[in-house]
Order: sequence, then structure tokens, then C-alpha cells
Amino acid sequence: MITTEKKEFWFVVGSQHLYGEEALAEVKAHAQTMTDALNESGALPYPLVLQDLAVSAGKITSIMKEVNYRDEVVGVITWMHTFSPAKMWIRGTKLLQKPLLHLATQFNESIPWSTFDMDFMNLNQSAHGDREYGFINARLKKQNKVVVGYWERPEVQQQIADWMDVAVAYNESFDIKVARFGDNMRNVAVTEGDKVEAQIQFGWTVDYFGIGDLVQYVDAVTDEEINDLFAEYADLYEFEYSNYSQEDWEKSVKVQASYEIAINRFLNDGGYTAFTSNFEDLYGMKQLPGLAVQRLMAQGYGFAGEGDWKTAALNRLLKVMSHNKSTGFMEDYTYELATGQESILQSHMLEVDPSLASNKPKIVVSPLGIGNREDAARLVFDGKAGDGVVVSMVDFGTYYKLLINEVSAFEPPVPAPNLPVARVLWKVKPNFQDGVKAWVENGGGHHTVVSLNLTTDQIITYAKLVDLEYVVIN
Ligand code: MN
Repeated sequence: MITTEKKEFWFVVGSQHLYGEEALAEVKAHAQTMTDALNESGALPYPLVLQDLAVSAGKITSIMKEVNYRDEVVGVITWMHTFSPAKMWIRGTKLLQKPLLHLATQFNESIPWSTFDMDFMNLNQSAHGDREYGFINARLKKQNKVVVGYWERPEVQQQIADWMDVAVAYNESFDIKVARFGDNMRNVAVTEGDKVEAQIQFGWTVDYFGIGDLVQYVDAVTDEEINDLFAEYADLYEFEYSNYSQEDWEKSVKVQASYEIAINRFLNDGGYTAFTSNFEDLYGMKQLPGLAVQRLMAQGYGFAGEGDWKTAALNRLLKVMSHNKSTGFMEDYTYELATGQESILQSHMLEVDPSLASNKPKIVVSPLGIGNREDAARLVFDGKAGDGVVVSMVDFGTYYKLLINEVSAFEPPVPAPNLPVARVLWKVKPNFQDGVKAWVENGGGHHTVVSLNLTTDQIITYAKLVDLEYVVIN
């Protein structure tokens, strides 16, 4: 469901003809050595492909046009090996429509004082070149990333890797298509938003479908398909029958299996990568999709409940950014207010993402107090521990705003035998009072996407690329 294997980044090394062909041959050799080492390091999630040296405005412009044209090229990393006069970079940089990272590094780690001469200094003058090049990016308001440090260092490579993941997600943003089964939940405010503006600013396509369009797909699923999928469930999850007979329990779970197959097929047929449901809009459905939605989120589809297409699209975006690791749709439910233990219980009616599970999920069938449908099957588990970010996209009428709160998730200390849904617990930063206050004062939603795999810096990098106002709470 998340297919990024064919993506690549182009590596463009800046220099000029001033120092002669011999110097340029050395620049080229160094660039090749660096490219090979970075690719072989295993630190980068996507390959780096070295381009011709950037020694003229014509060469730079043609490279950037090619980057724009090729779908497999996600972004550009530049390195100023020598001084590369930045007037040459203006046209190409202005044309570039994909993310740009300026790697402020140098081929040699240290200055070799005993042999250091004018030739060496002319050949290795990244400090000089970084400033000339940085000036033009700043003047063009390019919103490029700058990573500083010796290129062999793991922390420098990690910053490049993190940016690559953001760049892939940025490109994916323009391909995010949300299928909405039903409209928003009645009367709820924060899940509304301007769909046209979201498409202009983020590239998200948001399409409405009547629930009957999905019911047709559900009706077309065969018993054989359902039984095959049910066998897969038996391998992956614990079965908990509780008060149900095995027959009734299986019947209920198989309804969800038919939903999983039907929704997956519907989304594939339409090229959708995210979807929403609404418990108020289930005409023709026996259950609210629960287990089915959880399984599809685990495969990489974005989702949010109650017609919340903004959070569904954001979920898909962050799943791509995080390689679908420990990242999912979430809802703030209940406070723990005991002194020293202040935290927030996160859950949803059914649809909690199993990519956040710390233990083997069990399938539970239980009544649902809302929606007036049959008892629904869902995966129940405890959330894992880890530091991460919780993100909410809100529409303020004239602009979109992104809230980012750093959180520390922890495994629930005591069991909750009567809770028939998955639960995730976290403490907010900088502390409970200030964190919650800032969230509420800034109008952050109750629907969020949490990731224990992404950093605040990565979310900010994306926000800057799409000119999105953001608030960081940490
Ligand atoms: Mn909700």
C-alpha cells in the first residue's frame, strides 16, 4: 500500500571553471566517492544519484527542469565543493518545484596544515561556497533544508534521511485521494474544512460517496474470500469469544472481513489512498467498520472517523513519511489527573491503528453504544511506549493551521478488563498543564495523527514546503 521503492534523489555538486579542468576532475572524483559512500552507508532510505557538475547556469537549469519532469526524482541535494557563483543558480532554483536540501559539508574533515597550500584551499572551499549559495536560496525564499556537518557522521546522515522521508511525503501529498463514505458527523465543528483550499495548498483530492456505493462492493464479496481472510486473522490475532457463542462471534468477525475486502477493492478501483466513515451514515451496513478499518490502516491507508477527511489525509501523509511505522489516527478521550501521573488516554470508538500496538492484538466483539447497529468486531491492544509527535490540522476559515505537540507515550500500567477498545496513553510536553492549555488555546482538534517515529523537525519541514502556519508545543 505504501510504494516508494522506485524513488531517488539527485545529488548536484557546485563548482565553476575558474580553477581549471584538473581541479574539476578532482571535484568530480570526490563527489563520486561521497555519493558511493552515502549510498553504501545504509543510512539513507532512498538512493542518491550523482549528476554532472554544476558549473554553468545552463547546466543547472537543465538539471532542475529534468527533476521537475521525472516522477521518480523526489528532490535535490546540493553540495558546494568549491565556490560556485550563485547568479548561475537563480534560474534553475526558481524553476525547481521539488524539495531542496543544501548539504553544508566538505570532502576533507580536517585542514591538513603540514601540506596545506593555495591549490588545496581553492579546491576545498565549501565554507566560502556555502555562503554564496545560501544567500541566493534565502533571497529566493526557497524554504530549503540546510544540513551542516561532516558527511561521514551518522548524525549528519540521519538528518539527510529524515529530510528524504519528508520529501517523499511532500510529493505523495499531491497524490493523496480521500474517499468519504458519508459526510461529516452532524454538529461537529473541528472536522469541517475547505476542500478546494486543501487541494490548492496540499494537493489533496477529497471525494464524497454515498454509503450505498460501498454496500454494493460488500454484497459482491464471496464467502470464499471471507473465509480466506478469516484464516489470516487466526494467524495474526488472539480470538476472545467472551459471552458470545463461537458461531455468533465468527459471524460478527466475518462481517468485518467482508468490509475489509470491499473497502480495499473500492479504494483500489478509484485510486484512493485514504478514507473516512461516519457512524451516523451506515444505511445498509450491519456494523460500523472497525476491525476492517484497523486492518486497512495497518496496510498504510489514511483514515479518520466521522467524515474527518483532513485527518484522514494527514494520516496518509505521515504514514508515507514514517514508512508506516508506529503512526496512526487518534482521538483524545479521558484525562488522568492524579498528581505526578497527569496524562491523556487516547482511543476511538473502534478504529485504533494496530501499528501502535505493544502486544498481540485480540479480536473482540462488543456492543457499540452509538450508531444503532449490530455488535461490532475490533482489535483490542495496548499502545507502545516511545517519544513522538501528535499533529492536528485545523481550518480557521481563512487559513489552515497545524498543531504539533511532542508527547511521551507509555504502556498502560494496569489492565482495563472492561474496556473493549484499544488504548494508548501519553504525557504531553512540556508538562500537562502548559501542553494541554496551549493545545486548547490554539484550537487543536480532538482528532489527531500520532507518530512515535517522526520528529517535530520533520513536520515543520513539511509545513514550510506547503506554506502552512504551524504551532509547536514542547
Ligand atoms: Mn472521533
